[in-house]
Amino acid sequence: MAIVIAKVIVDVSTAAIDRPFDYQVPEEWEAFIQPGVRVHVPFGPRKVQGFVIGIDETSQVESAKLKPLQSVIDVEPVLTKELLELAKWLKDDTLCFYNDALQVMIPAALRAAYSKIVHVDSSVSLSQKFESLLSKDREVDFQQIEKAKLLPELKHLLQNQLAEIETRIRQRSTPKKQTVYHVASVPEEIGGNAKKQLQVLEWIREKQVSFFTLPQLQQDFSVTGAVVEAMVQKGYLTKKKQEIYREIEMLGDASTDKVVELTDKQNDVLSQIITSADQQQSDVFLLHGITGSGKTEIYLHAIEHTLSLNKEAIMLVPEIALTPQMVLRFKMRFGEQVAVMHSGLSIGEKYDEWRKVIRKEVKVVVGARSAIFAPFENLGLLILDEEHESSYKQEDSPRYHAREVAKWRAEFAHCPVILGSATPSIESYARATKGVYHLVKLPGRANAKPLPPVELIDMREQLKGGNRSMFSIELADAIRDRLAKREQIVLFLNKRGFSSFVLCRDCGSTVQCPNCDISLTYHRMGEALRCHYCGYEEQVPTQCPQCKSEHIRFFGTGTQKVEEELTRLFPEARTLRMDVDTTRTKGAHERILHHFGQKQAEILLGTQMIAKGLDFPDVTLVGVLNADTSLHLADFRAAEKTFQLITQVSGRAGRHEKEGKVIVQTYDPDHYALEYAKMHDYVAFYTKEMQIRKVYEYPPFYYLTHIQISHPDVLVTAEYADKVASWLRDELSNQATVIGPTASAISRIQDRYRYQCIIKYKKEPNLIPVLHQLLKLTRSEWEKQGVRIGIDLHPSTL
Ligand code: ADP
Ligand code: ZN
Ligand code: ZN
Repeated sequence: MAIVIAKVIVDVSTAAIDRPFDYQVPEEWEAFIQPGVRVHVPFGPRKVQGFVIGIDETSQVESAKLKPLQSVIDVEPVLTKELLELAKWLKDDTLCFYNDALQVMIPAALRAAYSKIVHVDSSVSLSQKFESLLSKDREVDFQQIEKAKLLPELKHLLQNQLAEIETRIRQRSTPKKQTVYHVASVPEEIGGNAKKQLQVLEWIREKQVSFFTLPQLQQDFSVTGAVVEAMVQKGYLTKKKQEIYREIEMLGDASTDKVVELTDKQNDVLSQIITSADQQQSDVFLLHGITGSGKTEIYLHAIEHTLSLNKEAIMLVPEIALTPQMVLRFKMRFGEQVAVMHSGLSIGEKYDEWRKVIRKEVKVVVGARSAIFAPFENLGLLILDEEHESSYKQEDSPRYHAREVAKWRAEFAHCPVILGSATPSIESYARATKGVYHLVKLPGRANAKPLPPVELIDMREQLKGGNRSMFSIELADAIRDRLAKREQIVLFLNKRGFSSFVLCRDCGSTVQCPNCDISLTYHRMGEALRCHYCGYEEQVPTQCPQCKSEHIRFFGTGTQKVEEELTRLFPEARTLRMDVDTTRTKGAHERILHHFGQKQAEILLGTQMIAKGLDFPDVTLVGVLNADTSLHLADFRAAEKTFQLITQVSGRAGRHEKEGKVIVQTYDPDHYALEYAKMHDYVAFYTKEMQIRKVYEYPPFYYLTHIQISHPDVLVTAEYADKVASWLRDELSNQATVIGPTASAISRIQDRYRYQCIIKYKKEPNLIPVLHQLLKLTRSEWEKQGVRIGIDLHPSTL
C-alpha cells in the first residue's frame, strides 16, 4: 500500500535543521494535507510547528523509521503555491534559513511563537505561585494565567518579557465595529426647531466631512445619538456598520476624493502601464515625478484598471508615509475592497486584514514592506511608492528588499510593477537609463504651482559674522516675517548620521578616510575616528586638519535644544515638536499634525518624521537647520540620502495658493547634493553621483556584500572576523576585494560585539557557493562557540 509523505520545514531556525523532514501522513488526513498547511510534528523529544512544503510518495527514510504527523493546524493552506515558490527563491537570494523565508510571509498571529503558550526564560526568577504553573519546558499556558486573574502579577514578574506579553494580550483584541454616518443629501435649511440638527449640519459644512462617527461629533459639542438617528430617518445621512481601525482617523475630508481628470501627461503614462497590463507583460515602470506631480492619481487609475480586469493589486508605501490621509484616499476610492497592513495595527488586526486577502474579500492591499507577501492569487499590478526608501529593505533575516520581491511576483503573475519616486534610487534610475526599466516622467506639479525657491545659507559665514546661534540671520528673519503674517513654518532637524562625525565649524570640513572617500566615524571607546569600510583609524584631532581651527567638534543638537532656542528668540510663537519622544504614544503623530493643521501652533519642529506627506496650505517657510549631518554619514549613499531628504522637505512648502520658500543651513554650501537639490535637478545630481560611484567603485558599478561577525567577547569577535576575512581572501583570491575586518558602526548591540567585512566585486558567479561554504563552516563549528555570522548580499546601508 502506498504511503503518503509530507515534506515539512519545522519552525526551528538553525543550520543543522535547515532542510525538509519527512513525515508520514495518517490515512484519514490524506484528503486535506496539502502544501502550505501548518502541522504539528514530533521533533526529537518535542512537538513543533511546521509547514508542509510538498507531498511525496517516497522517502529516503526507511518507512519503519518514519514518524506520523501529530496534528494538522489548517484546513486550508495559509501559503499559496506561489508563495511556497517565492520562499525557495527568497532563501537562496538572501541566504536565510528556509524556515525564516516561510515565517516572514504569514501574519505574526499564525506563528508558533504567538500561540497561547509563553516560554519563560529560566533566568527569570518567578514566585512559587507561578513556578507551580510552569511545565517542564517552562511554558506558561496563557489562558490559565488569565483565568486565575494573575496576569498583572505575572507581567510584573516578567518585566523583561513584557513587550512580548503585551503583544499576546493585544492579539486577542477583536476588531471594533462602529456605526459610521455618511452624509447623503443635506438640505440648505431645516425648518422647525431642530436646533441640534442644524448644529450638526453646520459642523458637517465647516469640517467638510463626508462621513463621521458619533464620538467624533461629540468631541466638538454635546449631542445625543437620537439627533443623528433622526437625521438618518429624514434621509440626510445614511448609516453603516463599519470596522474601525483604531489608528486610522476616520474623519474623512470630502476633498480627498475629488474625481480628477487626468492631464495629458498622466494619461500618457497611464496608457503605457495599461497596455503592459493588458498584454500581461511583467514590465517595470520607473515613474519619476516630483511630490505633487500626480503619481498617486496614476496609481489609483492603474489599480482601477486592474480591478476591471478582475485582478488584484498591492500598493506599498513606506511605513512613515502610510498616513491616515493616504489610507483614506484609497479607502474612499476602493471602499471595502481595500485591506490595510502596517505596524500600527495590533497582531489581531493584522491577522484580520490578512484573512480578508486570503478569503478573497478584498482586491487591493495598501501596506508597508511586508504587505508585499499578501497572499493574492491573481495579481495584476504591484506598486512601490517612494521606491528609494531604505525601509523597503528588511535588516534582519530574511534580508529581503520589497522591490526585488515585487519583481519576482510580477514575473510569476505576468503583470507590471510601478516604482514611483521624486528622487529614485541611483540604482533604479541607472537601470531605467539602461532600458531595463521603462522610464516614465511627470514634470511639474499637478496644480502647476512652481517648486519653491531654495536658499542655501553658509553657516561658516554666520560664525565669522559673530552669530553663534543655530539659527542663521536669514532663517530667523524669515521666521519673524511669517509669524507677523500669521503663516506657518516647518523646521526640520536632520537626525541622520547625528553626532557620529566631527566637523570643523570654521571651514566645514569633516575628517575623511584617506582610502574610501567616506567620513570617519567617531567611536567613544578610545576616542578614536575610524573608517568602517576599511578599518583605518586615527585619534580625534584637536585641530582641524584642513584649516587648523580649534572649532572642531561633534556635530549635534537635539530637538529640545532647538525648541528652547525658539522660545528664546520668538517668545510669542507656539511650537509643536515631533520626534521620537513626543510620538511614543499611539496616535500622537496624528494628533500633532492635526493640531498643526488646526493652526494651534505656528511652528512645527521635527526630525525625519515630518519630511513626508505633510500638506498644509499655510506653510510658506521650510527651514532645514543642519543639512550636513546626513551628508557626512559614513555611507557611500550619504549624498544620495541628503539629496532625497532636502528634496522631500522642500516639497512641503508653498503647495497651495501662498508662495513658499525653503532655507537650508549648511557648512558645505558647495556640495553638489545641496546645489542640485537647490536647483531641483535630479538628473544632474544623478549624473554627478554616478561619476563618483564609478571612481570609488561603489554600486551600481560594483556590488557589495556585507558580512557581520558577532560574539559577546570582543577578542573572540575580532579573532573570528580575521578568520572570515582571510578565508574569503583565499577562496575568492583575485575575483573580488575583501575589505576589513573592522568594528561595525555600532560596535556593540545587545552585549554582542560586532565586526564586519565587505566584499566588493564586479560580477562574481563564484560568490554564492563560497558564501554557502562559509555559512556551513561557521554554522556547524562556530555556532557552538557562540559566534554568529550575518550575510547581507544587498545591503542598503553600510
Ligand atoms: P504625488 O503622488 O505625485 O505626490 P498626487 O497624485 O498626490 O501627487 O497629486 C497631488 C495633488 O494634485 C493631489 O491633491 C491630487 O488630487 C491633485 N491632482 C493630481 N492629478 C490631478 C489632475 N489631473 N487634475 C487635478 N488635480 C490633480
Ligand atoms: Zn577647518
Ligand atoms: Zn577607509
